Amino acid sequence: MKLAFFGAEGKVGRAVVPRLEAAGYEVRRIELGHDPEVGGCAAAVDFTTPEAAPANVRAALEQGVSCVVGTTGWDPAELGALAEEKGLRLFVAPNFSIGAVLMLRFAREAAAHFPRAEIIELHNEAKKDAPSGTAKATADLLGGDTAIHSVRLPGLVAHQEVIFGGEGQLLTIRHDTTSRESFADGVMLALEKLPELPPGLTVGLETLIS
Ligand code: NAP
Repeated sequence: MKLAFFGAEGKVGRAVVPRLEAAGYEVRRIELGHDPEVGGCAAAVDFTTPEAAPANVRAALEQGVSCVVGTTGWDPAELGALAEEKGLRLFVAPNFSIGAVLMLRFAREAAAHFPRAEIIELHNEAKKDAPSGTAKATADLLGGDTAIHSVRLPGLVAHQEVIFGGEGQLLTIRHDTTSRESFADGVMLALEKLPELPPGLTVGLETLIS
């Protein structure tokens, strides 16, 4: 299957593209500053920046190509409407790691039993947006006023703790992404399920995992 990939030379792209190729995908790397020519591809994948992703997705949709997007820090609602209009799919996930999706599921379960929770998200210093998309999704799930603490340091990849506090007890749910290769499994799952999704915007890997 032929894929277009925006951000193939980025930190995520360099880890994910070789795994996609090893799995049999033919990957066309779309470089920054080049006209995004994605026609003929079964889907386009974007791991770039919040500034670049909307234009990349728009260009792909205009060429009749559905998209799988991992870039965080932008609002996909408007392009979701464009995708729906065109009968195409726009799948966006703030976190493509299966462990992170399970962390959210367990947090939802714990939230029913603890009065308060706070979130600590820790990422590499190069990450441009804060708080992370996953932290925001977790806070929404727990109630919008849940505090989020963001840490940006060299040496970190992507980590999150959800700490629940109750009388005389604490529960911590923690997920660590130790290598960006972990995102490839989620991207491949999204590519596989993409044709079965309804036209328009779908958000979150949890919608694909039973
Ligand atoms: P990165 O290392 O900065 O990589 C971004 C890449 O995109 C760079 O190679 C950049 O090229 C390229 N780029 C910028 N504008 C472009 C354009 N218009 N067309 C094509 N390529 C373009 O960032 P990263 O760590 O790989 O992360 C990428 C995004 O994914 C971020 O938003 C991050 O938060 C998100 N992310 C999501 C997940 C998830 O699971 N959903 C996981 C990790 C990261 P230059 O360097 O030449 O500018």
